[in-house]
Amino acid sequence: MQQSVLEQMQSMGHEQVMFCTDPHTGLNAIIAIHNTTLGPSLGGTRLWNYNSHEDAITDALRLSRGMTYKSAISGLNLGGGKAVLIGDASKLKNEAYWRRYGRFVNNLGGKYITAEDVNTSSKDMEYIAMETKHVTGVPEYLGGSGDPSPVTAYGVYVGMKAACKKVYGSDSLSGKRVLVQGAGNVGRTLIDHIVEEGGKVLLSDINENNIKLVTQKHSSVEVLNNNEIFNADIDIYAPCALGASVNTDSISKLKCAIIAGAANNQLADENVHGPMLVEKGITYVPDFLINAGGIINISVEMEGYNRARAIAIVDKIYGRTLENFELAAKENIHNQLAAMRMAEKRIADIAKVKTGL
Ligand code: NAD
Repeated sequence: MQQSVLEQMQSMGHEQVMFCTDPHTGLNAIIAIHNTTLGPSLGGTRLWNYNSHEDAITDALRLSRGMTYKSAISGLNLGGGKAVLIGDASKLKNEAYWRRYGRFVNNLGGKYITAEDVNTSSKDMEYIAMETKHVTGVPEYLGGSGDPSPVTAYGVYVGMKAACKKVYGSDSLSGKRVLVQGAGNVGRTLIDHIVEEGGKVLLSDINENNIKLVTQKHSSVEVLNNNEIFNADIDIYAPCALGASVNTDSISKLKCAIIAGAANNQLADENVHGPMLVEKGITYVPDFLINAGGIINISVEMEGYNRARAIAIVDKIYGRTLENFELAAKENIHNQLAAMRMAEKRIADIAKVKTGL
C-alpha cells in the first residue's frame, strides 16, 4: 500500500510540505522543505506534467532530500528544498502564474528559496522576484548569476577527472570514450570540456535539435541509436538527461569503468544499484556530489555574484570525490552511501554547534 504524505515525510526526514492551488492561474504547487539545519532550504522549481499527484509528491520529496545532501556535502550553509508545479509548461507559463507562485514562496518567509529547474528559466525567476526576495538564479542584467548549467557542467567535468585519477592513475580524459546521455544545457558544455581535452564523445538524445547543436560544433562526436547506448564500448557513462537511468537493466549491459554525470537521482534504487555497481567494478561518482556546481553558483549569487569565486569552490569537487572513494573503501560501502554519510555527518556536527549541546 502506498504510504501517506506524512508517512513519506517521516521516513525521509522532511520538516514541512506546503500544497498550493490557484484556480485563476491554474497553479498547482508542492513545496517540500527537507532540512534547514544548515540554513534556509534552497532548490529549484520544476514544472512537469506528472501522471498523478502521487508521482509529483514523491518527486518533490526525493528531490528536496537530494538538495539537503547536495548543499551539505558541498560545504554550503543551505538546507534542502524543492518545488514541483504540476501541469503543461506550454499552457501555464505567464506573468500572473509566476507571480502567484512567488507569493506562495514569500509566505514561507525565507524558509524556502527558489531557483531554476526543469522547464523554468531565469526569465520566470524575474517574475517570481516581483513578489518575493526569496529567489535566486535571476538574469545577469538584474545582478543575478543567470543560467547555472555551465557551472554544473564544469563540476561534472572536474568530478569525472577525479574518477579517472582513481581508476586509471591519471586524470586526463584524453583518449577516453565517454557516452553523454542528454545534450541539454549541461550536457553540451560538458561535451565541450571532454572534446577540448581529447576525449571521444558518444552521444544520445531524443531531441534532434540538441544533437545538431553538438555535431555542428564538434564533428568528432558520434551519435548513437538511443536503444543501443548501453551496448557501446565506452570508458565513462555520463547521465545528463533524466534520473533512474542506472538500473538493473542498464547495469547488466554497461561496459564502462566510471559513471559520472549531471542528472539527479541517477540510481533507480540506491540500496539495490549502489551495491550492484560495486559488484560490477564500476566506479560511481555520487550524483549530488558531482552535480553541485549549479547550487554552488547560486550560493555565491546570494553573497554578491563573482564567477571566479564560484569556480574556485566548484574545483573542490575533485578532492571531495576522492575523499568519497576513500571513505567508501574504508567502510566497505558503496559510494552513494558514503556520500550520504559525509553529508549527514556535516549536518549533525553543525547542529551541535548551533544548539551548543
Ligand atoms: P535539459 O532539459 O537542458 O537537457 C536534458 C536533455 O536530455 C535534453 O536534450 C533532452 O532531450 C534529453 N533527454 C531527455 N530524455 C532523454 C532520453 N531518454 N535519452 C536521451 N536524452 C534524453 O537539462 P539540463 O539542464 O541539461 O540538466 C540535465 C540533467 O542534470 C537533469 O537531470 C537536471 O535535473 C540535472 N541537473 C542540472 C543542473 C543545471 O544546472 N542545469 C544542476 C544539477 C542537476
